[in-house]
Amino acid sequence: MGSEPRNITQEHLDRARVAALIRTLQPDDPLALFRPQVLQRTAQHFLRGFPGHVSYAVKANQAPEVLRCLVQAGVTTFDVASVAEAQAVRAVLPDARLHYHNPVRSRSEIGAAKSLGVASWSVDRFSELDKLGPLPNHTQVAVRVSLERGGGAYDFGSKFGAPPDLAEALLREVAERGITPALTFHPGTQCTDPASWADYIAACARIATRAGVTPVALNVGGGFPSCPGDGDMHHRLFDTIAAATRAHFPDQPPQLWCEPGRGMVSSAMWLLLRVKARGEDMLTLNDGLYGALGEWRDMVVPGGLTAFTADGQTVTGTQSPFIIFGPTCDSLDRVPDPWRLPTAIAEEDYILVTGAGAYSLALVTRFNGYGTSKLISLETVSDHAGQCRLAG
Ligand SMILES: *Cc1c(COP(=O)(O)O)cnc(C)c1O
Repeated sequence: MGSEPRNITQEHLDRARVAALIRTLQPDDPLALFRPQVLQRTAQHFLRGFPGHVSYAVKANQAPEVLRCLVQAGVTTFDVASVAEAQAVRAVLPDARLHYHNPVRSRSEIGAAKSLGVASWSVDRFSELDKLGPLPNHTQVAVRVSLERGGGAYDFGSKFGAPPDLAEALLREVAERGITPALTFHPGTQCTDPASWADYIAACARIATRAGVTPVALNVGGGFPSCPGDGDMHHRLFDTIAAATRAHFPDQPPQLWCEPGRGMVSSAMWLLLRVKARGEDMLTLNDGLYGALGEWRDMVVPGGLTAFTADGQTVTGTQSPFIIFGPTCDSLDRVPDPWRLPTAIAEEDYILVTGAGAYSLALVTRFNGYGTSKLISLETVSDHAGQCRLAG
């Protein structure tokens, strides 16, 4: 793709900035390194390439720097799962369009969210539809559909979503109440199987036909994977989604929406961790499962590992597997699968984890007094003569 050479340049530039930052700051605490140019570019890919509208699933990373950067890129709709997330969005974009697509909410949350203004709610059971109470005109209610199929690395469908029969009854009820009807699903996070989206879109069309309701919108969820060169993969998925929608909704195609979390933000943040201690085949790092590596407990997170010495040189040579422990006293604080790293890696060296923007900072606890809390924008790091200056 035409964007490839620029990608490589940005990657090189940011790696040079990481080396300069190591040399100058010798950071002993874990750092989250934000890459705003990359986030801008990914947002543009979604906004231009997705055959419909784009919202961002705030739970993947709600750092204000991330939300502000997305707003600058032109994202105006945000999928929120709590009142706190809705407030975080309002703080950076007061007139943002909010989709409250966590299908279960307490009555007090509904009240608070209504006063913040919600354009679309999702439901997967009658009791939650009733709980919403009267809604302003033009508010949309999206019935969350769940199929017994998993395409993602981690299944969200088993917690939320109505099976087709219930979804049909719910959709009919939404329309009968005079609310704007919509359908939504989530194929599972880090989903690399285009057939997942195609199957869900076909199922949504059947549900709509049986309900005798024309959905105004179809939200195809998040699930867009993160991997090297994921822009191409996303474009293939966009094509699949557009084709399946044309095929299954030939008469009145619904307005398409997507709500990526991981696919939007993964590549836009790296983690810089430090080796506290080295054993024969094990490393204790300054962050772990209670910190920004929380997601590693449940899945192998796509992204790359690079080791740096304390003077910013890349550690090279043969690699071997290392058991990775976090800094806390809990023996559960251990990454399930070993990491392959240079055999020469030593105490006080650094490990750069790329592709770490999603479900990393968002999962940090302060257990045992640890946990990544510092975010540095790589844009503010200049690499003049190998020295690092932090601007602003
Ligand atoms: C978590 C979530 C998303 C984002 O999922 P990703 O796999 O990170 O893209 C989108 N929509 C809903 C309703 C979610 O719960």
